[in-house]
Amino acid sequence: MGLRTPEQYKASLRDGREVYYRGELVPDVTTHPVIGVAVEHACIDYRLAEDPRYRDLAVMTDPQTGELYSRYYHIPQNSEDLLQRSRLIATSTREGATLVVLIKEIGTDALFALHIVAEELAKRGKPEYRERVQKYYRMCRDRDYGVAVAQSDVKGDRSLGPQGQEHPDYYVRVVEERPDGIVVRGAKVHTSVSTNTDEVIVLPTRAMRAEDKPYAVAFALPIATKGLKLIASSYGGFKKDPFEFPISARHKMMETLTIFDDVFVPWERVFLCGETEAAGLLALTFVKFHRFTAVSYKLPLLELLAGAARAMAEYNGVENAAHIREKLTKLATYHATVQGLIIAAAQQHEILPPGVAVPNTLLTNVAKYQFAANYHTAVQMVQDVSGGLLVTGPSVEDWRSEAIGPYIRKYLGGKKGVPTEHRLRMLNLISDLTASDFGGYQEVLAVHAEGSLEAEKIQTYREYDFDAAAAYARELAGIK
Ligand SMILES: Cc1cc2nc3c(=O)[nH]c(=O)nc-3n(C[C@H](O)[C@H](O)[C@H](O)COP(=O)(O)OP(=O)(O)OC[C@H]3O[C@@H](n4cnc5c(N)ncnc54)[C@H](O)[C@@H]3O)c2cc1C
Repeated sequence: MGLRTPEQYKASLRDGREVYYRGELVPDVTTHPVIGVAVEHACIDYRLAEDPRYRDLAVMTDPQTGELYSRYYHIPQNSEDLLQRSRLIATSTREGATLVVLIKEIGTDALFALHIVAEELAKRGKPEYRERVQKYYRMCRDRDYGVAVAQSDVKGDRSLGPQGQEHPDYYVRVVEERPDGIVVRGAKVHTSVSTNTDEVIVLPTRAMRAEDKPYAVAFALPIATKGLKLIASSYGGFKKDPFEFPISARHKMMETLTIFDDVFVPWERVFLCGETEAAGLLALTFVKFHRFTAVSYKLPLLELLAGAARAMAEYNGVENAAHIREKLTKLATYHATVQGLIIAAAQQHEILPPGVAVPNTLLTNVAKYQFAANYHTAVQMVQDVSGGLLVTGPSVEDWRSEAIGPYIRKYLGGKKGVPTEHRLRMLNLISDLTASDFGGYQEVLAVHAEGSLEAEKIQTYREYDFDAAAAYARELAGIK
């Protein structure tokens, strides 16, 4: 089938999927006043592939068949593949006004991980998973699908694993094995973009012990599957004017509580079933790719924080004040640090069977941690430079009012020569990004999405070569 147009993508979402928004079943996600914004946002990935400016970056040709396919589906084999993927993710996020598109990014992260783990399982005498993963990958690639990933279980008591919880369904599990497939029950949470993808891949969220056998499960389903119920997140569900909300009026991503109400999965879509020893490997291998995606899509956001702070400082006439320059320098350092770590992580990749280039895990986690641990401080600096009008400013109706608009033009100006409109537009942009419902979403996304801060610290501790560092210290101390 090859590449799809945005219209073909949207048409594929009218498939009878069971999506709920504020208690009501949504008959058509593409025309829903809130989810429809997310659908339009997701079209960016399909538009990029048609845009002559980005076609070389977004589209690849299969050397065997000559067919075109989305670069997201290209399995990375070297540094250049990883860097091009990272550039594509950053480019589409830039088109999305700093909000990631994600409908192909996250699904392909999972598919790359599944290739590696299926190869490992084949070595352990289970070749059937490799065939299934390859077939599923080809189908998604050839149909140009959007694919969500449901990894995070609802988890109940976090100090426990799947066992010993108040009920057995806090982690998704197999409740029945049949000759033709399995039946699964449970719920995943925070599943991004699932309201508007074709498929969802389900992965284990953690390592499993021998007694957790029913929970060591991975599979894929079309979103429109009987028993699969999506309860959509509800933040920011009001109509926004782009003057006041330049980003969030047009760009949105939905998350869902994703419920598997005794859902049947045919065997050809099952990628792990009871192999407890491979559950942790799959969870972690996915994260290796997914955190690289995460830091790649943060770059436009970090550039915007530095750029908006600089523009605002100029409009307020304070760009040469020492404390402002210090803040701008810190914002530039923040952006450059994450950018440099991404390049280094791609260059220092490892190749895992069957020949997949995996970004350097230590550097990827350090990049993600640097981003997440410093985000709120960066927001604080931008807010500091901008002033309190971020939350006390007039509305778009006031600005357009014949009676009071002139007062706003007169009194909310800044530095001589800067039109009040420019100053207000920049304030609205920063307010939308840092002080609106969308700003709050961005802050939580920074802390939790793609794993919490602790998860990145644990990986960093595991990957850093302390033995070599301690040996060096001993040598200098004269300890044999
Ligand atoms: C906007 C957004 C989008 C997301 N998109 C996706 C997605 O598409 N797919 C997906 O699968 N997931 C997604 N996530 C989920 C994300 O990976 C999780 O939010 C993250 O892993 C944290 O899990 P949690 O939210 O359950 O928080 P918790 O795990 O409850 O964490 C809360 C705190 O408890 C601590 N904690 C948790 N367990 C323990 C423990 N055993 N011992 C000690 N401390 C502990 C954590 O370190 C943290 O400080 C998304 C999240 C967000 C916010």
